[in-house]
Amino acid sequence: SSEGREQYDVVVVGGGPGGSTLAALVAMRGHRVLILEKETFPRYQIGESLLPSTIHGVCRMTGVAEKLAAAGFTPKKGGTFRWGANAEPWTFSFSVSPKIAGATSHAFQVERSKFDNILLEHAVEKGAEVRFRVSVTDVIEDAERVTGVRYTDADGTEHEVHATYVVDASGNGSRLHKRVGGTREYSQFFRSLALFGYFEGGKRLPAPNSGNILSVAFESGWFWYIPLTPDLTSVGAVVRRENADKIQGDPERALLALIDECPLIKEYLSDATRVTEGQYGQLRVRKDYSYHQTNFWRPGLVLIGDAACFVDPVFSSGVHLATYSALLAARSISSSLAGIVSEEAAFTEFEARYRREYGVFYEFLMSFYDMHVDEDSYFWSAKKVTRNQHTELESFVELVAGVSSSEFDLDGAESAALRMKSKSAEFVSAIDEMSADADGNMTPLFRSSAVRQAMQEGAQVQSRAFLGEDLGPDVPMFPGGLITSDDGMLWQPGPA
Ligand code: FAD
Repeated sequence: SSEGREQYDVVVVGGGPGGSTLAALVAMRGHRVLILEKETFPRYQIGESLLPSTIHGVCRMTGVAEKLAAAGFTPKKGGTFRWGANAEPWTFSFSVSPKIAGATSHAFQVERSKFDNILLEHAVEKGAEVRFRVSVTDVIEDAERVTGVRYTDADGTEHEVHATYVVDASGNGSRLHKRVGGTREYSQFFRSLALFGYFEGGKRLPAPNSGNILSVAFESGWFWYIPLTPDLTSVGAVVRRENADKIQGDPERALLALIDECPLIKEYLSDATRVTEGQYGQLRVRKDYSYHQTNFWRPGLVLIGDAACFVDPVFSSGVHLATYSALLAARSISSSLAGIVSEEAAFTEFEARYRREYGVFYEFLMSFYDMHVDEDSYFWSAKKVTRNQHTELESFVELVAGVSSSEFDLDGAESAALRMKSKSAEFVSAIDEMSADADGNMTPLFRSSAVRQAMQEGAQVQSRAFLGEDLGPDVPMFPGGLITSDDGMLWQPGPA
């Protein structure tokens, strides 16, 4: 420890996508931000398939979107699934509707070492400081409030740093989340284990789907097959808990045996060799990753990303939840520091919106696994209410992805805001239509008003980021709750 107390506005624990997004957003408001990161970057991480909301929504707000676009990541136009009762693979595209312009109807498949490094360097460019190879060991408390953290540097020296807000963005492996209070509740539904590695020379889906994630269900669970570069593929088996013994023992043999169980993946890997060197050289196992903390904040401390919650690898929501929660928490911190709203109101809004988004994915992903065992699924409902010609799932995804994509059907700055508003109106009525079937009964997926709210908020985040201008008066998402500022960076008091 040193003489003279180090003090920041915000200390962020962890430089993953959650931490660096939050750091960038808060630094952009002129606050002093310090990121403490245990590793040296670039470092390996799993979670390589992203959603358009991250790339074109939150990353546009921080200004890192151009850098991502220039980084050469594989464009992901959608997903291809061998899943459910249909024996044939089916594909959804983020822009299944031909009227949607292509510019933003994609996400990326990313090597996380590169992606996370770009985001972290961008946060530094926006004014955040970063220290590597420092491990945060605990929070410092002053009565009820968290006022800083203790960390150990690479030499083993202990330090203290104080902050008005500590952000736990340390992912799922650290224990810091305990200091927020409450408990980490593990899901009773999502209890799979994942075994994954990397291959060179794996086959590609035919164009234009060659960048899609390929997800293939089989007897013991399902495989992800993610094309990271033309030559490199991320391959993971997610097996249900009752098949856990299948990934015991020698991981190499276990993975090969699982691949043998799954003809499509086996065929795609028939000419491929497993990478055995470098960051992709080892086979890895992950389990116990589906949980949520019962508290997301206390005075002076807030959890974002995997530190707070994660649902399941299917449908690639992890980085979306990390970056979206970073945006919500950044608004709370910046508004509270600026004295615009009370801390209590700001973080209550953060927690409510974050829990709703998490809940939406939880509900949606449960339905997706239900579909795996029962073809009479949510997607059947989606097809019925949308009355379109595509398969059930395409019908569903067309609307869901169309929400994002149609927000980006904007090419001129002049008329953009106007067109945006009419799109929003269209969107809201589309959601209303979707929520009831022909007999006026609520369809299961949209019975939850949380789903509708989330889709509306998602549309707003992306359109704000895209337009960077006034979209007209916002309305609170929750009764008596806060609204967002025009630039999306702050909370404001709702209408009296
Ligand atoms: P992380 O990315 O985990 O970053 C946390 C950082 O904190 C790390 O850099 C770490 O070194 C640092 N840190 C940890 N402890 C400390 C400490 N004590 N002091 C200082 N620093 C610390 N998501 C997707 O979007 N798409 C996918 O395809 C996908 N696939 C997945 C597959 C599997 C099997 C699993 C388990 C998850 C998957 N995810 C996926 C989820 C994704 O990995 C996470 O949701 C995402 O990485 C969370 O980001 P984060 O910023 O919260 O944390």
